[in-house]
Amino acid sequence: MNGEGDRRHADEMLAAVCGADGRVRLERVPVPLPGPGEALVRVDACGVCGSDRSFVAGATRPPGVALPVVLGHEIAGRVAAFGPDTDGGRLEPGDAVLVYPFIGCGNCRACARGQGHLCLQQRIVGYHRPGGYAEYVTVPVENLLASPATLSPAYAALLVDAFATPYHALAQAHAAPGDRLLVMGSGGLGMAAVLMRDLWQLEAVGVVSSHEQALELARALGADEGFLQTSDSDRNLARVLRRWSQGGVDLVLDTRGTAQSVAFALGAVRPGGAVAVVGLSPDALPDVALAGFARRGVRLIGSFGSSRWDVAKLVDWASGDGRGALERLQIHKIPLDALPDRLNPAGGAASERTGSPWTAPMAAYARLVVTPGSP
Ligand SMILES: [Zn+2]
Ligand SMILES: [Zn+2]
Repeated sequence: MNGEGDRRHADEMLAAVCGADGRVRLERVPVPLPGPGEALVRVDACGVCGSDRSFVAGATRPPGVALPVVLGHEIAGRVAAFGPDTDGGRLEPGDAVLVYPFIGCGNCRACARGQGHLCLQQRIVGYHRPGGYAEYVTVPVENLLASPATLSPAYAALLVDAFATPYHALAQAHAAPGDRLLVMGSGGLGMAAVLMRDLWQLEAVGVVSSHEQALELARALGADEGFLQTSDSDRNLARVLRRWSQGGVDLVLDTRGTAQSVAFALGAVRPGGAVAVVGLSPDALPDVALAGFARRGVRLIGSFGSSRWDVAKLVDWASGDGRGALERLQIHKIPLDALPDRLNPAGGAASERTGSPWTAPMAAYARLVVTPGSP
């Protein structure tokens, strides 16, 4: 491929590149060539995950990521081409697809058990290899799933991470019909858990947040109860929660993952219940008396990412009953050239700089999705 004359536009594409200095800039780069076993995907939509904001802000970054990099791991698009000697299986060029973002080493004991998302040598699309904040991306064919036919790419993109992460955590916690779930935190993962209540046939869902407006939204999306947490109200809140849950919830999904939230969650769960932590904070585990922990038979679970199988389940869900729930979420689409201002710490609204999109006023609660294909 060369960069001259008429061929230039076919060979180049726009990408939002996170440079060596950590700032995101729009650049013209060569369209990547799919290697053997890979597909070239034209990106229709890429969800802007909170972890990308925190990556650009320099707060938390997955290990082993080298700059510059094209971020974006919630990708929906269409197959543009397959690499040499590559069998697309049931997929053909033009097919709408989702990209499962985790690539395990294939050789370790985690990978052997289908847990490539936990592999210590894992490569994540949008971190360890170029992601979806670009017009095209190459990915292994085995990471592609057919997208639900009736769902728009902007919603479909959210299935692979924003929904798959809490789905996997609930599966790890053995969520069962009739369970009472408490969600700690009201960001994208927490709201996705609320929207999946029918999928898990939960009897009740409560949300704890320090943002009153986020609790309003959680109720609008299907939560039974919102619990406002103020800085020094934990004991009072614990009492209110015990009453609401009749002695303790069956499950807690902790999307904050701080020492304080985990300690609170362990106090809110019933004997025999489970606490699943998906929030990534640098905190140490809280100081908890182990005799009480053991006697209460509580399970404390760390959960990261999802398996391809989880995403396949969500595709099934979104192809049927789930579509209505999913589309309750408001989406705000932006073109690729508007992304740098949204991600760079100096740009965007103050609420977006501090992480959770749900801290913004009600009108701005929509989930941000980049649509590189649109002008
Ligand atoms: Zn993410
Ligand atoms: Zn591995």
